[in-house]
Parts: sequence; C-alpha cells; structure tokens
Amino acid sequence: MTRAVVPAASLALTALLGCMDAAMSGGPAPRPPAVRPAARAPAPAPALLAPEDAPAAPLPEIAEERAALPVFLEPPTVQVRLAAARPGKDISFTVHGAYRVFELKGSLEDGALGPLLAAGDGLKRARARAAREGVVMNGELLAGKSLLVCPRNDGALEVDGRRYRGDLALLASPGLELAAVNRVDIEDYVAGVLFGEMPKRFAKEAQRAQAVAVRTYALYHVLNGRVLSDDQGSQVYRGTELESDAARRIADSTVGEVLTHADRLVQAYFHSTCGGATGSAAEVFCVPAAGQVLAGAACPSCRDSPHFAWTRGVPPGVIAGLYNGAFGQALTFDVASRDPAGRALEVAVLDAAGRQVDRLPADRFRNRYNAGRPLAEQIPSAMIDEVRRAGLELRIKGRGFGHGVGLCQYGANGMAHAGGSYQDILGRYYPGAQIRRLYD
Ligand SMILES: [Zn+2]
Repeated sequence: MTRAVVPAASLALTALLGCMDAAMSGGPAPRPPAVRPAARAPAPAPALLAPEDAPAAPLPEIAEERAALPVFLEPPTVQVRLAAARPGKDISFTVHGAYRVFELKGSLEDGALGPLLAAGDGLKRARARAAREGVVMNGELLAGKSLLVCPRNDGALEVDGRRYRGDLALLASPGLELAAVNRVDIEDYVAGVLFGEMPKRFAKEAQRAQAVAVRTYALYHVLNGRVLSDDQGSQVYRGTELESDAARRIADSTVGEVLTHADRLVQAYFHSTCGGATGSAAEVFCVPAAGQVLAGAACPSCRDSPHFAWTRGVPPGVIAGLYNGAFGQALTFDVASRDPAGRALEVAVLDAAGRQVDRLPADRFRNRYNAGRPLAEQIPSAMIDEVRRAGLELRIKGRGFGHGVGLCQYGANGMAHAGGSYQDILGRYYPGAQIRRLYD
C-alpha cells in the first residue's frame, strides 16, 4: 500500500467558557498509531451511542486536529484493540488453519515485518504474554516486542469466542503489558460495524448514510494515529459476528465513500435520536475544529423514535453522591444555558439554599450522572426541557437519546422512508460536507 500522508494541522483550542476541563481531560493516545501520527495525537476516539440497548457513552474527548486526506491506492486497514493483558498475564487467541508469525518492526503504521518467528497449521487457544526479551507464546520466547500473527485464511482469527478477519498484532509495552490489535481491511470493518451501530430494520438509504459515517469516523481516527476500541468508546465491532450479506451489500454500495470538508475528513459523529435538532460539536464536546459541518441542524424526522420524548426521576441524594457529599445531601440541578434549539449546554448544580456550587458542560454532567447507572435510569440526552421538584425527587423531561451531534439515526430513517437518499441524509446532518470516494 502506498500512502502519502500529510500531517494534520494542529488547531488551537478555543477557550469556550465551561469547556476547558473537558478539553483537558484526554488520556494518553493508545499505541500504536495506524499511520504516521499527527503532530499532537490526542485522546482516544470520541464516544458514540449505539441506537438501542447500549450503555450511555462517556463524554467524547477533545480532538485538536482534523485528519488531512492521503491518496489511497487500495483500501486502508483499520486497527481495533480487542484485548489487553497486564504484566505477567496472558492473552488467549486461536487461529483456524495455517498461520505465520512475524516480528513486527517499528509500529503497525509502518507495517514493516521482521523475520518469520513461527509457522504452523492451527493454533488452538494459544497464550501470549509480554516478557523483557520478547513475547512468550505457548511457553516459547519469540524475539521481538511486537508480533504479527497472519492467518492464511480470511476470518480465521478467534479472540474471546469471536471470529475476525485480517491479522492480529500482539503489541508489548515497555511496562510489559500486551495488547491484541486486529488489523482489518476498512471495508470489512464497515460491514462488521454497520449493524452494531444501526438496527437492521432501518431503511437502506439510512444504512448507507450510516456506512459512510462509520467509514469516515474510523478513517478520521486512523489518520490521527489512533487505535479504535471495539465498543461504544469508538464504534461497536464484533468481528464477523454482526456481518451479514445485507451489511456487505450496504458497505459495497458506498465503497470508499467518506465525508470531507475543505479537503479534510469530517469527524463523523452520530447518535440515536436528536429530539428535534442536532447540536453543535463545538458547543457539546468543545471541539474547536468542528466547524460548520458539525454546527447542528434542524431535524423534523426523528419523531417516531421510541426515544423522542422521555421522563426520568432523580432519587434524592444521587446528585450529592456525585460530589461525595461535599455540599450536603440536598443537591439539585437545573439547566444553566441552552443552544437556540433548546439543548442544554451547561448545567448548574445547586445546594439546598439554591446557591450554585458547580457549573459544568451538560454532556459532562450527564455522563458523570450516567456512569454505572442502569440504562433505564440514565439521562438519555442533554435535550432537557424541564427539571422540577416532585417531593424529594427531581423529575426531568426531555427528548432524544445520545450526544445529539452529527447524524441522527432515527432522523435518517425517517428521511429515508420519506424518499430521501443517503446523500440527502448526509447533506442534512453534515451540512457543507462533500461525499468523496477515496478508492474503489
Ligand atoms: Zn433527529
């Protein structure tokens, strides 16, 4: 594969009031980068919500740059972290059929292979762990801090009972942790992710729009030097488990298509239900680079979503628990600022006397509140219409499910049923973006 990678521009943070602590919360970028890392490789991929039955995602981390577009002569690969083992612990995997194991020189992005270290036919429940001198596989020390296990047959890898296409990289850290990373063709990845992120019953044009968003989102992070996670932290990926002929046909019908703006990939967020209007990434996530493509749009098409309107009760003491009782037990909250569509941007936390003890981005508050709470008790979105006292409880009324930025999945489905094409759908939710085919 030949790629000309232009370093992504590093953009300055905007000092949006109330956003800075979210902006500074990013953890270290996971290793290894998929392609040449940008000047500043920020935090792991922002969170997305699966449309249904998914735990609410954590607050997306800030992105400080946008990936520049390389030239692809063939479909690129995506790197997805499947498992990790602490020092001294094993990662277990299986290869069905013939395989070879190479030393991986440098990083996955370079993809340079060292010597052949092992080969065979069938590897059942192999165990690998990191050691000072190399990776130990089934009790045998293989020289090399990182290995690439290459099955001869497609879909012959198995990790945690799931089958995967592509190769498996075993990457040892200096602290002797070991990560198992699936290196997979992006089109296989899109076919595998599609029905993890959108119900199969949705209209085909909505699915095509979703496929373009999934591909763009993955490639955006690949080009920013990140390894994706296999859960809502990036996009839900279960190897071949959720693949189907239908998913493959949808991926094929949009092969290579991504969303771009000003010759850069769009950070193609999506969510289940916006509740009437999508939000601005800059305001919701404090992502300064988001621009007009993620500025928010009216959405009259998600009214049929089961998540369109909701009410929740907040039991007494729960808000106080978020602050470990530091401000007493009678804390409440209210919306402190909204965008023009009514989405809460900031939340004020109030003590028993009504004094403000904290003010924070609404999505950050929501994710803090939701952490560890059953889905049915979570605050589904920041489109909060009303917060009122009902005895000792707070009653909240709101609309939508998910962070509300980018493509609204139920809205996309509504548009498709009304005759909209996937281009129409993407045009509404990523206004000003172009659909470009990067490879065939
Ligand atoms: Zn919507």
